[in-house]
Amino acid sequence: MLFSEQRHLYRDRVAGSIEVICGSMFSGKTEELIRRMKRAQLARLNVQIFKPAFDKRYHEAHVVSHDSNSIPSMPVDHSSAILLLGQQSRVVGIDEAQFFDDGLVDVCNDLANRGTRVIVAGLDMDFQGRPFGPIPALMAIAEHVSKVHAVCMQCGSPANYSYRIGTQTETLLLGEKEHYEPRCRTCYYTHSAPEPPANLPTTS
Ligand SMILES: [Zn+2]
Repeated sequence: MLFSEQRHLYRDRVAGSIEVICGSMFSGKTEELIRRMKRAQLARLNVQIFKPAFDKRYHEAHVVSHDSNSIPSMPVDHSSAILLLGQQSRVVGIDEAQFFDDGLVDVCNDLANRGTRVIVAGLDMDFQGRPFGPIPALMAIAEHVSKVHAVCMQCGSPANYSYRIGTQTETLLLGEKEHYEPRCRTCYYTHSAPEPPANLPTTS
């Protein structure tokens, strides 16, 4: 389709957009997502939150943040389900977005181009300090990116790394306090870090 035709298609429609909320474990990403979704609810907009189906740490049908401030959500297996199920909502939230497939980038673009406000929350880096899943690409195409910070458990500085406690190497190990602690750059890389600085980006 020609660009001029696309412009014609999008004219007179409600403007959609993409917002990304990212940071380390315990940085308040989900809390910020919930805050924005609740404001949209107050404005009487139709809202819906999606999250990866396998993230069953807390209640299955709710997005639950670490302070138990929750709103309803829908677990889905694949990003394509969000495009299918999210079309009726004016505001679509996506939590733990780093665990979705790369198709999430096109899904968010499609929804935003159809007039949906898409708010994505997720880890920007995995425990090895590497860009995580579809988050980096989403940061690139988003209108707004918010980096939120935890508190470094070693020195108290703002933290943007998720330091894994223990020896597990599985990337998908879900976040619990006994597995991770937030750390600042200095403490992540210099104080008993188990991995050398990661090579960026990976192509595997
Ligand atoms: Zn520190």
